[in-house]
Amino acid sequence: MPSHTTVIIGAGHAGFQLAISLRQNGYAGAIRLVNDEPHPPYQRPPLSKTYLKGDGGIATVTFRPEKFFADQAIELIADRAIAINRAARSVRLVSGHALNYDHLVLAMGAANRPLPNVDVPVAAIRSFAETEELRLRLADARHVTVVGAGFIGLEFAATARAKGLAVDVVELGPRLMARAVSPEISRYFQSRHEAAGVRFHFDTHIAGAVRAGEHGARLALANGETIATDCIVAGIGVIPHTRLAQEAALETQSGIVVDEQLLTSDPDISAIGDGALFPCRHAGGPARLESVQNATDQARCVAARLTGKAHIYDALPWFWSDQGSDKLQIVGLFNGFDRTVIRGSVADNAFSVFCYKGDRLLAIESVNRAGDHVAGRKILGAGGNVRFDDAADPDFDLRKAAA
Ligand code: FAD
Repeated sequence: MPSHTTVIIGAGHAGFQLAISLRQNGYAGAIRLVNDEPHPPYQRPPLSKTYLKGDGGIATVTFRPEKFFADQAIELIADRAIAINRAARSVRLVSGHALNYDHLVLAMGAANRPLPNVDVPVAAIRSFAETEELRLRLADARHVTVVGAGFIGLEFAATARAKGLAVDVVELGPRLMARAVSPEISRYFQSRHEAAGVRFHFDTHIAGAVRAGEHGARLALANGETIATDCIVAGIGVIPHTRLAQEAALETQSGIVVDEQLLTSDPDISAIGDGALFPCRHAGGPARLESVQNATDQARCVAARLTGKAHIYDALPWFWSDQGSDKLQIVGLFNGFDRTVIRGSVADNAFSVFCYKGDRLLAIESVNRAGDHVAGRKILGAGGNVRFDDAADPDFDLRKAAA
């Protein structure tokens, strides 16, 4: 019998990575991975990108076949956690079973933020099941309305255009991806999506919706415009799953609060991934990041701690988004920037925006310039800097600086 048991709630990017990293680090205890979705663990990024373009099934997005879990002695438990008893160190499942733990890891991610005041069918792209449902709706749709010009909404908008659908995007703010990118990147992607035929409606929202047909609706926007649509897809952000933690009297705010080693207020419980609010040097304070990098690096950090190599979580944030034929890669966090410099050529669809606070490089946003992204990860990852004047000099050799 293994002497130590780790229970992981949530088998998404963070939970799956934690299970395999524990085994890779030689963890000999029991690993119980609680999965409340009816599929083996799978990757989410393709769902809004390539997945809807093809006709493949779940096997095209799963991390590993089910046999892998048995081979690695990772117990995949198809169930849903509904309560944590911290005194007894056990988790109650919806099936009625209970799991005892020595260490518990909350990797439950986040739920879609519901679209307020819209009483007609609305599709989403967070889970595989939702994406499959959307695929069915798209089969006889000619027009889609995307609510929210964030990464997922825009990736889907590009996919829908590529499938020949007419696309309108309704966005509350004045520009696209405003929470995560500089105005330069917003402008570029707006022009690229518009050139592909996407119509944007900024600074407005759906004020009223009347059902038309099985899945369609007639939408009234707050700015007075109307849209007749066959399908509404919402991507307006997420609400982290904090209820279990809250009910177990763990500290929660806009996420499950963890320290720099990703421990909650209970030393027997960690939290990782989209739901964890952690002290982030790169953000200059507590942050909750929604990215594969954050989920997998936090999982590796907890796996290291549970196998005797504890260290603080200080990974450099990076992210990517594929929209049409453009690949956006971001390293660092741009919050607090006060000036930017562009390297490369916007006209040639290959450039990077270097975001600065004074002379300190905060982030690099690269469009079809993977070399800048790779160099940026090396430089910022090592705590280095690129002087503003150097970045502005087209003859400056960034790759050499990174080396
Ligand atoms: P998740 O992967 O969401 O996994 C959480 C799991 O926990 C889910 O399966 C959930 O059902 C389960 N769960 C919740 N509550 C319970 C419970 N009580 N009991 C049992 N299980 C439970 N990031 C990038 O970096 N690049 C991209 O291009 C990108 N594209 C994306 C595209 C889409 C469509 C989506 C949805 C996300 C994308 N992301 C991307 C974000 C990235 O996928 C997430 O940041 C990542 O999945 C977070 O991992 P996680 O493990 O914290 O949460």
